[in-house]
Amino acid sequence: MEVEIHQCDKCDKVFNYGQALGGHKRTHYTGPPICRPLNNGRSEMEVAAMAAAEVVARDFDLNEPVEEVLL
Ligand SMILES: [Zn+2]
Repeated sequence: MEVEIHQCDKCDKVFNYGQALGGHKRTHYTGPPICRPLNNGRSEMEVAAMAAAEVVARDFDLNEPVEEVLL
């Protein structure tokens, strides 16, 4: 059975799966963060509270009667 290997071009580590290599390559990534920084120095509690507030605001907007918006 042929085994495909995926070798890191930075540190020559070898992985059995391309997905594993992809995950490993992130450790070499030195550019700006790929994910949006969700907590810029904020505590997890604050971030969760902000996220909850955002959901409530969206629900409020969605609850507005469509008929009134169209008129
Ligand atoms: Zn590597």
